[in-house]
Amino acid sequence: MTILLAGGAGYIGSHTAVSLLEAGHDVVIVDNYINSSPAAVDRVEELTGRTVTRYRADVTDKAAMTAIFAENTIDCVIHFAGLKAVGESGRVPLRYYRNNLDTTLTLLECMAAAGVKRIVFSSSATVYGDENPVPYVETMRRGGSSHPYGWTKIMMEQIFEDTAKADSDLSVVLLRYFNPIGAHPSGRLGEDPRGVPNNLMPYITQVAVGRRDRLTVFGGDYPTPDGTCRRDYLHIMDLAEGHLRAVEYAMAHTGTEVFNLGTGTPYSVLEIVHAFESASGVAIPCTIGPRRPGDLPQFWADPSKAERVLGWKARRSLEDMCRDSWNWQRQNPMGYGENKE
Ligand code: NAD
Ligand code: UDP
Repeated sequence: MTILLAGGAGYIGSHTAVSLLEAGHDVVIVDNYINSSPAAVDRVEELTGRTVTRYRADVTDKAAMTAIFAENTIDCVIHFAGLKAVGESGRVPLRYYRNNLDTTLTLLECMAAAGVKRIVFSSSATVYGDENPVPYVETMRRGGSSHPYGWTKIMMEQIFEDTAKADSDLSVVLLRYFNPIGAHPSGRLGEDPRGVPNNLMPYITQVAVGRRDRLTVFGGDYPTPDGTCRRDYLHIMDLAEGHLRAVEYAMAHTGTEVFNLGTGTPYSVLEIVHAFESASGVAIPCTIGPRRPGDLPQFWADPSKAERVLGWKARRSLEDMCRDSWNWQRQNPMGYGENKE
């Protein structure tokens, strides 16, 4: 099969590309590198010994996307292309609504014109909002959001559902990711955020490698066992393999189906710090600071539907996640470095 990865040079897309190529599929990556580097695609090729068809294009550019769909016979699309910084989305909401909604609309229109009927979408646990009890189950109603990024995911899920309702041949798989961390075990691919990391694990690894002085833990007075927030962290290679299963599912079904991709086990911020310290042997200086606005105290997945229906289950441990994160950052202290756009 040939799978088009919109935003495929990013953290999740590049690891997914490796899993798809290793399973024998062909991959077409479209990315404008607004938050990634072409070096990640070079490394996907290096790791797999396969060639990736790649385009530097904005997924909102309908003429460019129409040409890409005309030049390639695409069996399935995976839509990763979006802006994802929660805090930034509150400062520049229109940029988030424009980019995230427009990439989705453009892809769906180009797919309809080209007769492509299968799409897997990068959704997020954020769509459960703050009203649902934990663990989150796919049958729960979507909640609201305290930030524009979350609203774009809620709106995009609705757009997909409505589009699939109107076209009975369309197959949509909405993947609600929990918290992916870790890296390819080779240390050649990993997460390389621009500027100050927003997410916990890249912040920890940048402290470990000496790029930052100390970690600020956002809040120590939450109603959790150690007072710090708890999340459902999963290994990026488990998440990548989830996409392989999702593509196979999309090829065999129509309509919209939603899956949580998580482990079902929450860890606190302090548990992550301690697990990282023991996997790496590096001490992480920490200060407990104020809460970050909008953070929920704790959430985790009920991942049983993905196991039952897709045959997917996260296999890698927290130790694997910490070891591989460290292996990546240690080998690439400046990430993709000067190759970054
Ligand atoms: P990322 O920023 O590393 O990857 C996104 C990619 O999309 C980047 O390569 C970026 O350059 C590209 N892109 C963005 N807008 C584009 C456009 N208009 N045209 C072409 N390319 C564009 O992020 P990621 O962590 O790999 O996340 C991928 C998807 O998964 C995103 O939609 C994100 O919201 C979602 N998601 C991520 C997480 C997480 O924790 N990483 C959790 C839940 C959901
Ligand atoms: N966190 C933290 N310090 C940081 C970054 C994150 O204490 O510098 C905490 C954050 O409050 C949350 C957890 O780590 O409880 C995971 O944060 P991340 O942004 O990675 O994921 P999300 O909150 O979006 O689930």
